[in-house]
Amino acid sequence: MQLIDGKSLAKTIKAEIAIEVKQLIASGGKTPHLAAILVGDNPASAVYVRNKVRSCDQVGFHSTLVRKEASITQEELLEVVKELNENPDIDGYIVQLPLPKHIDEEAINLAIAPEKDVDGFHPMNIGRMALGLETYLPATPFGMVQMLDRYNIETSGKHCVVIGRSNIVGTPMSLLMSRKMKTGNCTVTLTHSRTKDLAAEVRRADIIVAAIGMPNFVTADMVKEGAVILDVGINRVEDTSRKRGYRLVGDVDFENVAPKSSFITPVPGGVGPMTVTSLLMNTLKACRKEVYK
Ligand code: NAD
Repeated sequence: MQLIDGKSLAKTIKAEIAIEVKQLIASGGKTPHLAAILVGDNPASAVYVRNKVRSCDQVGFHSTLVRKEASITQEELLEVVKELNENPDIDGYIVQLPLPKHIDEEAINLAIAPEKDVDGFHPMNIGRMALGLETYLPATPFGMVQMLDRYNIETSGKHCVVIGRSNIVGTPMSLLMSRKMKTGNCTVTLTHSRTKDLAAEVRRADIIVAAIGMPNFVTADMVKEGAVILDVGINRVEDTSRKRGYRLVGDVDFENVAPKSSFITPVPGGVGPMTVTSLLMNTLKACRKEVYK
């Protein structure tokens, strides 16, 4: 079993991005600039956004954090989106989810200019991904593809089973893994809450992507010997031995599944750190106008 060390890989990729940024600026290009809109005071969202801003500093990007009260109206938020769309210095931006209940996330997503949608959630960018065109890939699936690529894990002809069909993880990952590209060319099964005999489907997998949001969902009896495991889940479980009273675990019963696997991502320190790296890569692409000329 080999651990896929997302934390260390993300550090390596960030160092590579930092070099590219220096070269870009030295050759007269602009400094990449990522903005983030954070609405309300959800503590997890605040942590995610803080990480993104800190990562921008690490690679030499400019960053702008736009903080708004949870009471902001949809119209006011759409106005903020419009300002970022029109600001020529900002190459890309994200709207941190979830948004307060009274705001229609879809309406906000649709209002983001596709050329600045570095989260890759806009239908235009999802459509481009589905067609295999140059695009901003959604951060979490993009991070997982990078992991498979950098660890030289063969995917061609393999059977990949994705568990969970969310728009930001499961569904785009199933598309990417089936696409005709170096890390892709899999036969993909996308499973979800209505799948009959999910364990039997997962047992057939050479590559398992677990994106459900339930601790210990994938157990050792569901895993074929030598399978590759990508654990996306981030779940808090009570742990009184920790000062904060909880610890983070994935969707996979790591202790019992790891010995059966060929490669496995830990939680924390696996898929999570790669998500931010993907966002930086997309922002660099946006700055260089590689997707939309
Ligand atoms: P989601 O809640 O939007 O989707 C969960 C999916 O799981 C749904 O499609 C649902 O059909 C499926 N599901 C639920 N119960 C099931 C069951 N019993 N059997 C089979 N499928 C079932 O979640 P999401 O946004 O995709 O996130 C999933 C997990 O990944 C969460 O823990 C989240 O915190 C984490 N996450 C991590 C990162 C990262 O960077 N590591 C990024 C995004 C999400």
